[in-house]
Amino acid sequence: MAPFEFDDSGIDDLMNELDHLSFDIECPECSHSFSISVDDVGKSVICPNCGVSISIESE
Ligand SMILES: [Zn+2]
Repeated sequence: MAPFEFDDSGIDDLMNELDHLSFDIECPECSHSFSISVDDVGKSVICPNCGVSISIESE
């Protein structure tokens, strides 16, 4: 049986993925759905379709 080896670099990869996690939102003005980054939570984003400013708030 192979010894269990814990690889720290895997954790780093996972954290990097979480840092760049994105999710889809729907524009309240034009219903266009697009993805934003978790970094945008608490900020405002511009709808790429109609250009309206949407404030992103965490629930
Ligand atoms: Zn829009």
